Amino acid sequence: MKELLTIDTLSPVEQRRIERFDRKSNAVAEKMLRRINDLSHRPETLTPFLDTLTRIYVQKQEPLRPEGVPMVGTYCVMVPPELVYAQGAMPVKLCSGSYTAFGVGDDLAPRDACPLVKAVMGFEDVDVMPVYKACALMAVPVTCDCKKKLAGWLSERRPTALLHVPANRYRDEDMERFVKELYGLSNQLTAVTGLELRYDNLEAACHAMADAQMELSRFMELRKRYPLLIRGSFSMAVMNALSYTWAPLWTKQFRALNRELETLAKKGVMAVRENQPRILLTGSPAVFPNFKLPLLIEEMGGLLAADETCMGERGLYDPPAIVDRSVDGIMRALANRATRPCTCPSFTDNKRRTYRIRQLIENYRIQGVIYHVLRGCLVYDYEYRTIEEELGRLGVPVIRVETDYNEEDVEQLRIRVEAFLELIKYGREAT
Ligand code: SF4
Ligand code: SF4
Repeated sequence: MKELLTIDTLSPVEQRRIERFDRKSNAVAEKMLRRINDLSHRPETLTPFLDTLTRIYVQKQEPLRPEGVPMVGTYCVMVPPELVYAQGAMPVKLCSGSYTAFGVGDDLAPRDACPLVKAVMGFEDVDVMPVYKACALMAVPVTCDCKKKLAGWLSERRPTALLHVPANRYRDEDMERFVKELYGLSNQLTAVTGLELRYDNLEAACHAMADAQMELSRFMELRKRYPLLIRGSFSMAVMNALSYTWAPLWTKQFRALNRELETLAKKGVMAVRENQPRILLTGSPAVFPNFKLPLLIEEMGGLLAADETCMGERGLYDPPAIVDRSVDGIMRALANRATRPCTCPSFTDNKRRTYRIRQLIENYRIQGVIYHVLRGCLVYDYEYRTIEEELGRLGVPVIRVETDYNEEDVEQLRIRVEAFLELIKYGREAT
């Protein structure tokens, strides 16, 4: 296993490399935070969420949590946070959006691997991010080829739990296998924290996450009733901050945000005007600091009215449906909740995603869809055709936007996004 080094034990060359990395990655994160802050109608109660992102990406500190609680790195929404909390650890979602770490990972992975995985490898290699460094265990669901290779690469360096996710989540035998995978993860959690899986702890963790899910539902209801109330870039910052926040603290912060939004709604204060195009963002995850697309949409005069991504509102599913009140009953409910309602295209059958996108279009009065494909992310790219056909039937315009983790394509993206917004606004073919 790789030995964790402190900056004092490194050679001067390595120290300089880390300092350069630090400077560059801080600059990117600060710039993105500034751009979020500069958007108009930023709610006061957004501050703690932005502070969390600053703490992790600029100040490079560990997440706030009760003393002595170890962290477990998770690499997909399919790792149930309830299980990690129940066994005395804090889950931190480590899928990465760092351009600087991507630059390092680009030399470690094949050219066509996706930037998200390259960025994770970059952070692991440079070894300066406390949120990665201090994890006692990494939990990686094997959902696509990139995650599979990442899991293998990580397991050579630190304790890693691989979770085999069924390609077809509707067959009972596949679900049984996934339940076993969760029990396997539970054993590895026990090895880290010393806590066995117990009903009372599982139940308490389910309650804590249900509180968080309830605040998210309240927020989504508000956005449904008042689609112009809050910008999607703010909403995505809130959801990204969840990756590094102790769940009950995040729930408290979110409750305050919901209260502020309810007050604004009562006073009729909206974030944007009715004639600003309302956009749905779907596709590969937009992980902070890679907020290129959400910010471009809103800086160019659109409203990101909703998203269908796992770093946005899909990042926190509804509470598990617990029928059998036993440890096994809850484990089955968690396995079900993590896979069956999931709209990630890594499953073979994904009609649910088309349905969800139609639902979001209706609920949030969406006028256009931007389909985000991270270069090398085949699972999302595969589904573009299906979604495009469905949107064609609905008469909703869509564009496919392929991006990487750098700022080189920003100007080109700006032109495309601007043209798309104009097409929606003026109903004419943009040039
Ligand atoms: S895109 Fe799918 S596989 Fe990747 S992290 Fe999100 S839910 Fe998991
Ligand atoms: S689902 Fe896409 S973005 Fe996520 S790890 Fe796989 S290839 Fe990368």
